[in-house]
Amino acid sequence: MNTSTTSQPWIIEVKNLTVSFGEKQVLNNINFKVQQGETLGIVGESGSGKSITSLAIMGLLSPLAKIHAGSEILFHQNGSTINLLELDTNEIRKIRGNDIAMIFQEPMTSLNPSLRCGEQVEESILLHQKLSKTEAKAKVISLFEKVKLPNPERVYKAYPHELSGGQKQRVMIAMAIACEPKLLIADEPTTALDVTVQKATLDLLKELQQEENMSMIFISHDLGVIANVCEEVLVMFRGDVVEQGNVTDIFNNPKENYTKGLIACRP
Ligand code: ADP
Ligand code: MG
Repeated sequence: MNTSTTSQPWIIEVKNLTVSFGEKQVLNNINFKVQQGETLGIVGESGSGKSITSLAIMGLLSPLAKIHAGSEILFHQNGSTINLLELDTNEIRKIRGNDIAMIFQEPMTSLNPSLRCGEQVEESILLHQKLSKTEAKAKVISLFEKVKLPNPERVYKAYPHELSGGQKQRVMIAMAIACEPKLLIADEPTTALDVTVQKATLDLLKELQQEENMSMIFISHDLGVIANVCEEVLVMFRGDVVEQGNVTDIFNNPKENYTKGLIACRP
């Protein structure tokens, strides 16, 4: 693993990230940085490369994806810099879920239907932390309280199908923050939820981000949602970053026609 010692205000720097599947290039030379404690939004219509970008950071791209030479994903932590794209499977696995965590759009596909919710979060904690089973269970209960799940003891024993979509997403958030990650990637975390539950989930994520002083990459196809959660935004279209900057500036004064369109077609 290549590390160098530098003190950076950035937690993550994506440089020249280019990814293709066969002949099709799905990310074209993407560049952005996320500052310590900041929430960066990524917005763009379906297929623009938002998920591929987050999967690349997590080391979860399909083996069919080709990451082009010259691409870098630099993770700065405790004065050292690691290029995540140079790590082997074991090294990236240690970082994933521990230093960098992710929540996905559809909590049902991320939770194992045949395991109780509490046990799933507990397993994930025991993978990364040296705790006894009793200590891990106590931690799960306190995490469930933190993400404001009603009746944490009941949720601990519940199977995923016994919970609502919003409750399942809270279980996923609890799992994601269990190891106090430096960076949380939330990929369309509210898209699959009822409108009434969406706002509560966004409020929770915002609150946790501030409380834990985490950095966050928040992905959505809705610039309105991004404007509520993020300070900085990256607008993506067909694998390109078409515009980037302060979210209020871009919302009020978009420079690119594509961004104007995104704002105009909001419900
Ligand atoms: P978004 O999250 O912005 O909706 P994605 O990052 O999922 O978009 O996808 C970007 C592009 O990459 C799309 O054109 C999609 O079809 C393509 N793509 C994603 N995953 C694969 C894959 N496993 N094989 C081939 N193409 C893929
Ligand atoms: Mg996506």
